[in-house]
Amino acid sequence: MTIVRNACSQVSFSLQYNNMKASQSMIITLREAPAEAVIASHQYMLRAGLIRKLGNGLYTYMPLGLRTFNKVQNIIREELNAIGALEFKPTVIVPGDIWKESGRWETMGPQMLKAKNRQEQDMVVSPTAEEAYTAIMRQDLTSYKQLPINCYQINTKYRDEIRPRYGVMRGREFMMMDGYSLNADDESLDQTYQLYAKAYLRIFKRLGLKVIPVKADSGAMGGNGSEEFMVESEIGDDTLIICPECGYAANAEKASCAKDIPLNSEGKPQTATSEKYAPISTPDVKTIDDLSKFLKTTPQCFIKTLIYKAKNVALDLSDVPCYKYLKPITEGTNKFYPEVFFAVCIRGDLDVNEAKLAGFLKASEIELASDEEDEKITTAPVGFAGPVNLVNAPVIADLSVMDMHDCVTGALKKDTHFIHVEPNRDFTPYKVADVRLVKPGDKCSCGGTYYSKKGNELGHIFKLGYKYTKSMNVTYLDKNGKMATPTMGCYGIGVDRVMASIIEAHHDDKGIMWTMSTAPYQVAIVPIKYDGNMKEVADKLYDDLTKAGIEVMLDDRNERPGVKFNDMDLIGFPVRITVGDKNLPNVEIKVRSEPEAKLIPATEAAAKVEDFVKKELADLNA
Ligand code: ATP
Ligand code: MG
Repeated sequence: MTIVRNACSQVSFSLQYNNMKASQSMIITLREAPAEAVIASHQYMLRAGLIRKLGNGLYTYMPLGLRTFNKVQNIIREELNAIGALEFKPTVIVPGDIWKESGRWETMGPQMLKAKNRQEQDMVVSPTAEEAYTAIMRQDLTSYKQLPINCYQINTKYRDEIRPRYGVMRGREFMMMDGYSLNADDESLDQTYQLYAKAYLRIFKRLGLKVIPVKADSGAMGGNGSEEFMVESEIGDDTLIICPECGYAANAEKASCAKDIPLNSEGKPQTATSEKYAPISTPDVKTIDDLSKFLKTTPQCFIKTLIYKAKNVALDLSDVPCYKYLKPITEGTNKFYPEVFFAVCIRGDLDVNEAKLAGFLKASEIELASDEEDEKITTAPVGFAGPVNLVNAPVIADLSVMDMHDCVTGALKKDTHFIHVEPNRDFTPYKVADVRLVKPGDKCSCGGTYYSKKGNELGHIFKLGYKYTKSMNVTYLDKNGKMATPTMGCYGIGVDRVMASIIEAHHDDKGIMWTMSTAPYQVAIVPIKYDGNMKEVADKLYDDLTKAGIEVMLDDRNERPGVKFNDMDLIGFPVRITVGDKNLPNVEIKVRSEPEAKLIPATEAAAKVEDFVKKELADLNA
């Protein structure tokens, strides 16, 4: 695939109007943000009049804000067009039937807004569009020659988020770029996936955002091979685990770490014991900490056993003795167990990562069993669970357990533990898996020590595999004339969240500091008074810059200079040219992100500012 980049696209942004007089535009700024706005982007978007709230999680982009919103979309569009993705536009309201076909009608949960039309048919306000894409593309797909099919939309989504917050960062209605691909095989899917990854890096660079691509959990979407594009942020919803040595970065939901050698109570590596495991009396000692004190040892010597209840488990359990009687439910090509229990073992000083566990079990949901359920499985009061002699649930052992020796576990009996337990000798787990919650301080496989950061997800790419193409019955004739099913990828970026994140990354105590590629206008011209000489010079600059293709806002309002300066700084125009009679024939040029202004002859100002704007755009686009 050849990539043709439009060399001037970064400069001549195709807006209908490149210039604007402040008196004609809706500049409505606020001194204070409403109390509910607690982060900079939310406060400044409201204060600068870029957005207005219509309802909880529902925001309107006002004319100035919409310019930036459109610019963000256009940068995304240009870079996706450059990798050969084709833009299409499905409807936002889609038939509920396609969600029933894929099996997500139920599993998407209450975040999906459903409605009935006048014929009482189920409808969905798209929270995402895998189903729509699949249902549309399967209509015309007949031959391998048509693959890959790589289309994207930039379109409205609705998710009935429980807690919309931080303004447009987590809204209910928002704009998403969502791309989807159908590919003939894994190799082709990987190529499309890599193209998106490359385009994403260019998109975020052009927007002026530093992103960290991290390995991610693919959650309810299913499938494997997924990366999230995160920005570091104190208000981030995600935790990133990062290795300073090799650059490994992963969402804490997915991160894995190197093995560490378990130590005994003397701080020496645990060694195998030849003693038989034996019960000891531990009256009323239930927690690992109590037990450590009681036995004068450390949590590293305990095997912690947690009973989990998992829903819609697609892992094949036909060889689990206690589940022999269970029949999985078959829905299309999916086979799953609606509700099963597992005993999950992990070294006493570590914690279970439930997202990793759910991924391993291929479960839609997992939670700790209730006390009652726990007692049923372990035949003992809560606190005495252990893997030795456990028959009522399969044991999933974390990797950490298999390196342990001479350890302590619950004995499935009130006030009793076993000592001298040897994994593999005294119990054999049903499966060994990596379900450890990785924490800062844990080791990377390169030897580095992890640290963690808070991050916010701006974009996501995943390899979905056959989840939708199988359940929704997409087929084509392959090279040999045989019926085949394509594999699928999906790729998303949140436009609103990106816009808010640019503000999070670029602001000061006066307001927003837009990057050149995203400012509603690149230059603000502020005459101290829009009258006489000052008006003449300001108008000339306005005309010259407009002719040069620069986007200019001229503040012709009859306001005090201080008010105008504050507004221009709050809205965040990257360059301000101040025309004051005291300085004429010079004018003052102030770059928003620099502390000092410069005086230059008015006759040179337009050319200087034009060069500056174009250089900034070129740097972002490099
Ligand atoms: P999150 O974990 O933040 O809820 P997600 O993983 O559910 O997001 P995806 O389904 O991957 O989101 O959607 C792709 C992109 O859409 C996200 O990377 C994010 O930028 C954006 N996005 C998702 N939910 C919202 C929302 N409620 N408001 C604004 N943007 C959103
Ligand atoms: Mg995501």
